[in-house]
Amino acid sequence: MKDNFDDTDFREVVSDSGETEEHTESEAGDSSDGKEGNSAVDSQDSAESEYEDICYICHRPESKAGKMIKIPNEICICADCMQKTFDSMNHGGFPLGDMSSFGNMPNISMINLSDLQNMGMNMVPRSQKLKKKKSKEEKKEKPVLDIKSIPAPHRIKASLDEYVVGQEHAKKVMSVAVYNHYKRVACDNLDGVEIEKSNMLMVGPTGSGKTYMVRTLAKLLDVPLAIADATSLTEAGYIGDDIESVVSKLLAAADNDVEKAEHGIIFIDEIDKIAKKKNTHQRDVSGESVQQGMLKLLEGAEIEVPVGANSKNAMVPLATVNTRNILFICGGAFPDLEDVIKERLNKKSSMGFHADLKDKYDKEENILHRVEVEDIRKYGMIPEFLGRLPIIFALDALTEDMLVRILTEPKNAIVKQYQKLLAMDEVKLEFEEGALRSIAEKARQKDVGARALRAIIEEFMLDIMYEIPKDDNIGVVTITRDYIENTGGPVISMRGCLNLEDKTALA
Ligand code: ADP
Repeated sequence: MKDNFDDTDFREVVSDSGETEEHTESEAGDSSDGKEGNSAVDSQDSAESEYEDICYICHRPESKAGKMIKIPNEICICADCMQKTFDSMNHGGFPLGDMSSFGNMPNISMINLSDLQNMGMNMVPRSQKLKKKKSKEEKKEKPVLDIKSIPAPHRIKASLDEYVVGQEHAKKVMSVAVYNHYKRVACDNLDGVEIEKSNMLMVGPTGSGKTYMVRTLAKLLDVPLAIADATSLTEAGYIGDDIESVVSKLLAAADNDVEKAEHGIIFIDEIDKIAKKKNTHQRDVSGESVQQGMLKLLEGAEIEVPVGANSKNAMVPLATVNTRNILFICGGAFPDLEDVIKERLNKKSSMGFHADLKDKYDKEENILHRVEVEDIRKYGMIPEFLGRLPIIFALDALTEDMLVRILTEPKNAIVKQYQKLLAMDEVKLEFEEGALRSIAEKARQKDVGARALRAIIEEFMLDIMYEIPKDDNIGVVTITRDYIENTGGPVISMRGCLNLEDKTALA
């Protein structure tokens, strides 16, 4: 057996078995079938060729293991594995004819080629395949993110305005940060001035739209987004999600395209849950250690992540993702942070000739806007971690007015969604101002921000959605405050008739 065999040698060995010849014949037959069959195969081929081949034995992708040797049924084996197999045969000193005795030898594993062929081409599912990196020439022609295609901050904000109600300051900060980030990605740092990464930390009560804003932003910019929950993260090696798993999620969101993932956004929610635990004598595996583990990720590092799986193991191919250009946005409710801010402000103003009253800040609304790094550090985040999140801003707590606007104004507002549903039955749905206000009041009492709106509206819309399609004569349904407060019914108008108040059917 040759030491340095090549592709053609291998094909010859396989064709000896006779099976392959049949295969190629049938392929030739297929090709004569006509154009349609050919184009289908071509398009499948081109889709496949965007993905890297993965070695069947060691599971390394083509970019790591080098050129693959292809055997029929789309099975690929890297040259190293193939070499090892042949080496082991050589060292064994067996005559090639006596293949049956190999199975009994310790430490020698043989590939049974006919087994591989029988297993077919679907052994490595698409979800575990990596997209090929584009060559440099290709990159120049079609960059993933072109500076010209990055919308200016005012345009980013204008698009956010269509979806997000209020939160003017947050939208402005985010628009500028995102704009700068992608400008930084696009520029090549030729003159030595390196623009720093603009990772962000959002502070805002639950349901105030933190996740929603990031989601909208990613959709707008058409970049992949991964949303992770910091609560489940633990230091590597402990039960829970590994910190690097967030990058793996992003890769999956980018359709296993490493290049696309490297320009994506990672949102880590509930970041306050990984604050340093106070007075603990045990190792803080889900607090401070997670913050430390995230440092290199936030800064920019080459991370090896499993493709198409949550954990690294021998059966999963690995991909290397550079996090240098990934935008990290962390969000958290930071309960009781107001007290920390107040304490700091009071301390500053309670001394000297210009001392203020002690309770000056007690009644101030949205005191979260005065947040500073120092407050968050006091809360339990380590300075190194905060240093890598240079942009800190707060979201407003949602007021009743904002909740009313959230119900009706955004492009995909809940009220608009119901109106569209009923419009399909040719019924017009209207909400009285009082009804909207009543829903907002109820939602505020629940103290979970805008999240409560959907639950409330769904509760009383159930009857409407059930009853209205029964009667083809109904033209307009008006939801009243009384109906929301369970003291009356909606106003129902028949087509071409006067309004009639239906207090019986739907009350
Ligand atoms: P959190 O701040 O806890 O991450 P979310 O972003 O999940 O809150 O918000 C929950 C839902 O509330 C969103 O899906 C969105 O529909 C709605 N919402 C919250 N804030 C706003 C807002 N300012 N404008 C429009 N919708 C909002």
